[in-house]
This record gives sequence, C-alpha cells and structure tokens, in this order.
Amino acid sequence: MNVVHAAYAEKVNDVIVCRLCPANCRLTEGKVGICGCRYNENGTLLTNNYGEVVTLAVDPIEKKPLYHFYPGREILSTGVNGCNLKCINCQNWSISQEKAPTRYVTPEQLVAAAIEYDSVGVAFTYTEPIIWFEYIMDCAPLLQRAGLKTVLVTNGYINPEPLRELMQVTDAMNIDLKALRPEFYKRICKGKLEPVLETIRQVAQSTVHLELTNLIIPSLNDSEKDFQELVDFVSSLSDMIPLHLSAYHPAYKLQVPSTPQETVLRAYELAKQKLNYVFVGNLSIPGLSDTRCPRCDTLLVERSGYITRVVGLHGSQCKKCGFETGIIR
Ligand code: SF4
Ligand code: SF4
Repeated sequence: MNVVHAAYAEKVNDVIVCRLCPANCRLTEGKVGICGCRYNENGTLLTNNYGEVVTLAVDPIEKKPLYHFYPGREILSTGVNGCNLKCINCQNWSISQEKAPTRYVTPEQLVAAAIEYDSVGVAFTYTEPIIWFEYIMDCAPLLQRAGLKTVLVTNGYINPEPLRELMQVTDAMNIDLKALRPEFYKRICKGKLEPVLETIRQVAQSTVHLELTNLIIPSLNDSEKDFQELVDFVSSLSDMIPLHLSAYHPAYKLQVPSTPQETVLRAYELAKQKLNYVFVGNLSIPGLSDTRCPRCDTLLVERSGYITRVVGLHGSQCKKCGFETGIIR
C-alpha cells in the first residue's frame, strides 16, 4: 500500500475530521473513514490508496457513459478500491465495498499508458474517484501537459472546496443522479441527496463538460413524480445536458426485478419534452442512443452497441442547420 498525507484534514481536539466528502468522518486515533482508505494515524490523516490501481482497461468513451465528449474515441479507464457511498445495488461492489488486489502505477506511468493506447485521456471510474483525490490531482496536470483529458465518472458526493479544486483540472464528468428523493440516498446509498445536487449545480455552471446518469430501479425511483422531478431539476440547469436513463439489473444486496423496457421508455418520453439529449442505457432500443439535432432532427451521431459513427457534424455544429450542439470533438 502506498500511503500519503490526505488532503482536507481538520484537527478538532484529538479528533481528525476528514472534509473531503459530506460524510465528514470524525476519526479518532486508528480509525478508518467510511471510504476505507483514509485514516487517523498518530494524529495525521493518511490515505493508503495513492496510485493503487485496481483495474486498468481501454474502453469506448461511450461506455462511461459520455456521448458528447470525443464520440467514437477510446479512453484509458482506471479505478481504485473503495467508495464513500454504500449503495446496496452497486454493480462493482467487489471493488467498491471490498478490497481487490492492486498494483502501484505512478502518475507518469499512467500518462505514458494513455499515450501508448492513443487514448483521449484517462477516465477515473468503476468505483469512486473522489476518494482518489490526491492521485487525480497529481495525474491531471501531467495529462493536460501531454494534451490529454481528465474524466471523472462520479457519484458527486464531495464537499464544495475539494470540488472546486477538482473542477480546475477536470475536462469532463459523468455524475450519477440516483434519485431526487433524500430518503433514497439515505436508505439505498447511506448518503445525502443535497450535496450531490450542489455538485451538479456547480459543475453545470463551470467549463467542465457534464453528463448525468440516472439508474431507474423499479419501486424505488420509477414513479411519474420521480421522473418529473429529475427532468425539472436537470432542465432548470440546462436543456443541453445529456441525460442517460439506465435500466437496472439485480446486483449485490438488492434483488428487485430488472427494470421493464416500458418504464425506461416512459421516463425517456417525459425527459424528451424538456431536454434536448436523452439516451437509454443497458437496453438495446434502436435509435434511442443516437444523437439528433435538437433544431432540425438531423442524425448527428449514430450508435449501435459501442460502435459509434459521427455522421452529421461539422466540428461541433449540425452539418445541415448549423446548430451549436455542444458536442466536444
Ligand atoms: S473521503 Fe472517506 S474519510 Fe473522508 S469524509 Fe469521505 S468517507 Fe469519510
Ligand atoms: S456510488 Fe457507485 S461505486 Fe459507490 S457504492 Fe454506489 S454504485 Fe457503487
């Protein structure tokens, strides 16, 4: 394990409070935070995950999912053990809630690998990149210097100050918006909704490219009211934010049945009334993962599985009507 000093430590008498995420763990001597990597040793906050890579793979960027950030390109994707939430439906629970073997990869080695694979950059994903704060803050400037991008696929559960720091070095984020219900975050994820909403608001106002994902789980967040609140929130920020609606399949400790296709279609139809870019994930429905021009309906980006073809763009504009699509290439 590669141990370094952890950022955002606040000393309150003989307790260290970690201020990286809204869990604000109060750690007495020897205690470990909820994320399983930050701990108090001799009155100092340390983290044992610096550069400890649990997985490294080259994926289509659409798999993150990011549909409007270098569509059709591949991205080197990596992740760490642990997470600051405890979702009972976590698909990656074997690395987010348990520890898998890791290997140490220096920031320089990570950047070299991204260059070698002709990657857009590096996506910090699979589990929760926020708890890899120190490593990402070291990798991102090196990626930038090499002309590569830093991508975070995140639950958005972070405090405002570290978020500001991360946004300065990040090019794109996909943030999971799991539900608009505080009790969902409390019961299913052991967290809080409001900090996630605040993160999304901050990122939406920044220059960081933002996409959102909502996993639809039967009986937990699939009512008309759930969909309406989700769409109202996103559209209040911008109708240009791509929203990925994903079908749930049983995972980890949650065993409710998979999301029926009709439910996802219901959410899709509702979202399309207010948002320009809505996509369906985890289901193969022809056309519903394509990007069309919001103004003239020209097909801009065609997707089938993870095969992506940019067909209707001139730079970032619609080839036919010149609409500025916001797609980064
Ligand atoms: S990052 Fe970890 S230790 Fe810090 S507050 Fe969040 S869960 Fe607790
Ligand atoms: S936030 Fe993501 S990685 Fe963390 S427990 Fe929930 S689903 Fe798993």
